[in-house]
This record gives sequence, C-alpha cells and structure tokens, in this order.
Amino acid sequence: MNQQRSAYLRALGIQEWVARKPANTGPGPIEKKVVHPGNSALSGWDDLEQRVAVCEHCKLSCQRTHTVLGSGAHDARWLLVGEAPGAEEDRQGKPFVGRAGKLLNNMLAAMGLQRENVYITNTVKCRPPNNRNPEAEEIEACRLYLETQITLLRPALILVLGRIAAHALLEVHTPLGALRGAKHVYRQGNLEVPLIVTYHPAYLLRRPEDKSKAWVDWLLARSIVEANV
Ligand code: URA
Ligand code: SF4
Repeated sequence: MNQQRSAYLRALGIQEWVARKPANTGPGPIEKKVVHPGNSALSGWDDLEQRVAVCEHCKLSCQRTHTVLGSGAHDARWLLVGEAPGAEEDRQGKPFVGRAGKLLNNMLAAMGLQRENVYITNTVKCRPPNNRNPEAEEIEACRLYLETQITLLRPALILVLGRIAAHALLEVHTPLGALRGAKHVYRQGNLEVPLIVTYHPAYLLRRPEDKSKAWVDWLLARSIVEANV
C-alpha cells in the first residue's frame, strides 16, 4: 500500500519527504510527508496532456520520441486499453497507428464503431525499448495517468487488449484465456466500470485463427455498452 502510494506521488510529481529518525527519540520512525503546492491532483485533460508530455517518472522517458497519451472522444462510451506504444506510435505520438492499429481499425469498423468515437490508450504512455513488455514498476509509475483518463471519461465499458493491460487493470496474474468470456468490474474509488478482456491485435496478427474468439469478446462488450444506455 505504501509502495503504491509512493508510486502515485511520484506520478503526480510530488516529492515525498521522509524525515530521518532523530537520535534518542525512542523506537519507530517519524514520517513527515510534504506535498508541494502547485502539484495538486490532475485536474482535467489539458493538465493531463501537459504533464504526460514532459513526464520523466520512469526510465521509459529516456528513449521515447513522443509520449502517447491516447486518442479519441472525451465522451466516449468505449475505452480500449492496449499495452504500450510501439515504434510507429512513438514516432507519431498516437496509439495504435502501426500494423496492430490497422487490424484494430478493421475490428472497430466491423463493430460499427468509429475510431473517433472510442477512446484508445495504453497502460504506459512511452515506448519500451525494442518493444519489450512494460515492467511492473513502469506500469505503476504510469498508473495515475490511466486512472485519471478513466475518471475523466467514465466510460460505459473498458475493453482490455491483451494480457499486460488485463493484469494491470484487474491486478491479477490469471492467464488471458481464463479472463476472457466474463464480465469483470474495474473499481476505482466509487467508480465501477464493466470490463471485458480480449486478445491484443498484435497477437491476432500472429494467430489469425483466434480472430473468431476475439469477435465473440467484442460482441459481449457491445452487448454491455448497449445495455447501459
Ligand atoms: N500495441 C499497443 O499495445 N499499443 C499501441 O498503441 C500500439 C501497439
Ligand atoms: Fe511517465 Fe508513463 Fe512515460 Fe513513464 S511511461 S515516463 S510514467 S508517461
């Protein structure tokens, strides 16, 4: 819990001060946290965009070209969460604009959805070198941005693309196959959002035979959005 709090504070740009234990004051450390003025919680999309654009809260900031906050409508009912920006996303500063993005566009179109009407983002906003998986501490460092996006959007549904995002959002380590096919709930404070897990489009490019299973997941997702009018 403390570790999570520290990650939050870091993502907010708030320096956490822990007072050294003074000599001869008996057992137990004395903790004093100072929240610097001007580093209050993220207040809206503009604030979020500005903070992410210059964020250096994890080592992924070192090699990125552009941060990739997300794209789409700020009143979207669907929120899609992928893993991390790839090379093309890093170049353009937009999510899912490479090969996996083309497949995602086709899937959206097949569902009768336009890309502009959904909101698309990733668990981390900077590209991991050589497209490696984002590490747990990078996901934690970036979590506040995703949480802020969810709070601002209040989507009717979160469609999670792939294992990394599923584990990050549901905070479980269950294999993806076991998470598919069920309606999960994402909880954040008082907010509860239905959540469906499906395959990542990059996986489907490697295993097109699983596209029919993904289609079933998307239909389940759509039925939840439609039931929630
Ligand atoms: N893969 C992802 O997970 N996200 C992107 O933005 C692009 C490819
Ligand atoms: Fe900041 Fe997230 Fe980029 Fe890390 S991945 S530097 S936390 S925006």
